[in-house]
Amino acid sequence: MAEEYLSGRDLNLIKTAYEFAAQAHDGQLRNSGEPYIIHPLAVAHTLVSLHLDAPSIAAAFLHDVPDDTPRTIDDIKRQFGPEVAGLVSGVSKLGKVRIKKNWLRFLKKEQETNFDRHIENLRKMFMAMSQDIRVIIIKLADRLHNMQTLEFLPKEKQQRIAKETLEIYAPLANRLGMGEFKGQLEDLAFPYIYPEEYHQLLSQIKEEFAVRQRYIERVKKELAKELVKNKIEILKIDGRVKHYYSLYQKLFRHDNELEKIYDLVALRVIVKTIEDCYKVLGIVHKKWRPLPGRIKDYIALPKPNGYQSLHTTVFCLDGKITEIQIRTGEMHDLAEYGIAAHWYYKEGGDKVGSKNKLRWIQELADWQRMIKDPEEWKKTLKLDFFENRIFVFTPQGDVHDLPQGATPVDFAFAVHSEIGRRCNGTKVNGKIATLDYPLQNGDIVEIVINKKSTGPKRDWLAFVKTNRAKELIKKSLKLH
Ligand code: MN
Repeated sequence: MAEEYLSGRDLNLIKTAYEFAAQAHDGQLRNSGEPYIIHPLAVAHTLVSLHLDAPSIAAAFLHDVPDDTPRTIDDIKRQFGPEVAGLVSGVSKLGKVRIKKNWLRFLKKEQETNFDRHIENLRKMFMAMSQDIRVIIIKLADRLHNMQTLEFLPKEKQQRIAKETLEIYAPLANRLGMGEFKGQLEDLAFPYIYPEEYHQLLSQIKEEFAVRQRYIERVKKELAKELVKNKIEILKIDGRVKHYYSLYQKLFRHDNELEKIYDLVALRVIVKTIEDCYKVLGIVHKKWRPLPGRIKDYIALPKPNGYQSLHTTVFCLDGKITEIQIRTGEMHDLAEYGIAAHWYYKEGGDKVGSKNKLRWIQELADWQRMIKDPEEWKKTLKLDFFENRIFVFTPQGDVHDLPQGATPVDFAFAVHSEIGRRCNGTKVNGKIATLDYPLQNGDIVEIVINKKSTGPKRDWLAFVKTNRAKELIKKSLKLH
């Protein structure tokens, strides 16, 4: 598949990366009992289907090497250069982002706000830490395969990973316009998080689904006839079945009334040009009366994530209410693969057009520039407390957000007052650091404790940044 769009040199890079990974993971098994290399292979395969570039695919093969094998990131850098190594270390860092274990319990109404805030922090941190959008796409492909093989993990892990997928990864995919990814991730997580609701939904829609699919087949034929008569070139007409989880959410909003979900099975018409899209809309409305207020022109007014399409809902055959979506082939790919489709079209040359007619690609470029230019990035988040916060991890992957300039002592007190009091030394990203070291976004901080310690040192007060640390130190020293 990769031969279709990559050069010989690119293919060589990928091959070397595969061999390097296969050797590094040699002898290791996945929880499924399969050889470990199956996993990076699946991730690389997903990226190839999205036509991502060669460094990304190489990084996909190598993404678990530094954390799970004796080979280090420096080995990768020596062999594959800084670009591939940068992608791998980005993916590895994102892999350390975890929902705190104790947050999983926080699902009761009164605690939702706290939970939502924690989740929003994680999403932002994800964005901020990635720096290169390819890192997120590799991470999403990684998560997709882990979700596909989740059944082999212990129950507690399943819960955490499925929850993260639903709360962090799927919304991120959505934000990047990767609708197909979002749908798949959600549907994979759904049965783990809401098992009862999942099974209830399946039995509820089973019959209705079959009936609607037969119906859509009839509409499809009728419409195709009409379009041919009007000399519209059809690229594809198909009946799209809604993803389960998004259907579940929709039902929730509609008092569980399946009759009100008009797009359970929607008809999708894909044509060559934007002009044809509007022509098709006219033909559809001439044939079937539209429902007022349900015509949406996302071609003229794309959704914030770049989604483009015409939507209409009509009184269709037998007077049944049916949703029809109309778009070009390019819009279709962008709707399914979002930002990832960018590579696909870039490589295809002028499919996208040099004039950047797709606004969202422009927006993406702006977004990436912002991330590369921290000042710009900060400006856009000015109204946000995130501006002055950094996110650091415990070695177990728990996230703590601290003010900028915070030190390992602040971190220690944030984890636990006793850990703060007995803090005796620190390692940042595995290397020994001083206790007043200014922590950076994404640092992994380990605190060395002295059990015999009599308490905090007075001179810590000169450099700690958080009020919590200050207060607890003063209290211990009886300075109050
Ligand atoms: Mn992985």
